[in-house]
Amino acid sequence: MSDPIRASDPRIIAIANQKGGVGKTTTAINLAAALAEKGEKVLLIDLDPQGNASTGLGIEADDRDVSTYELLLEDAPIASVIRATDVENLFLCPATTDLSSADMELVSTEKRSFLLHDALRHTDIDPYAFTYILIDCPPSLSLLTINAMVAAHSVLVPLQAEFFALEGLSQLMLTIREIRQSANRSLRIEGVVLTMYDVRNNLSQQVEADARATLGEVVFRTMIPRNVRVSEAPSYAMSVLGYDSASRGAAAYRALGEELITRHQATKKGG
Ligand code: ADP
Ligand code: MG
Repeated sequence: MSDPIRASDPRIIAIANQKGGVGKTTTAINLAAALAEKGEKVLLIDLDPQGNASTGLGIEADDRDVSTYELLLEDAPIASVIRATDVENLFLCPATTDLSSADMELVSTEKRSFLLHDALRHTDIDPYAFTYILIDCPPSLSLLTINAMVAAHSVLVPLQAEFFALEGLSQLMLTIREIRQSANRSLRIEGVVLTMYDVRNNLSQQVEADARATLGEVVFRTMIPRNVRVSEAPSYAMSVLGYDSASRGAAAYRALGEELITRHQATKKGG
């Protein structure tokens, strides 16, 4: 018998780049908020032991009793990990520093790369009817990031518009290729988004030109400008859309959300 028809068919997107500080968490929070604002039902999974996405969405560290650690390593049902946030339509699976030992603990378990995959296919997630699930990955190609890529339909790569931006990319692409050949044949690249872009900076323009020449269509038209409102928002436990709705950062993340939805619809039609 075929699988029962699910209440929803969320698109699962891993936000990954093994470099730290390139805008993964910022993109996870603000893209999630932008999609939620458009009426999408969004789950953000914090898979970074630093828990910055959780803090940035207002879930304090001492208020994370059940987290992605319990989800992956203690078989906690996902419904017990999912939390509502102050943003309508946006839910969160928070992370704690416990997750920093997960890599070592995962080594000894069977099916260690499939833990998140299996957790997300559990039916207790169905009533939420999520349309998007975003996964904020740690700054490494560790087993946590592998779990995200095995669980996901696609990988979204934030690329900081600075010198050496493209350098780590071949390693990341290699990892994606390996996962495609083993655990997740249909894994796609959702796109590469340039972050902290500064139009007045020649270097930013050079990185953009290089990225578009090397990677082509995979690079989103939308670029995220360097904008102080974007960096201020998390300390108010808000997305930039909530913190300063009229800011350039908010406009950029709204545009990225629209571009993503449009691409998603195009690939659906294309089959
Ligand atoms: P990662 O998750 O890849 O380590 P973060 O999203 O935490 O990166 O971003 C690193 C730093 O850069 C943070 O201090 C963040 O506030 C800042 N930052 C990210 N994007 C922007 C932006 N568009 N404008 C200004 N600051 C940004
Ligand atoms: Mg981060």
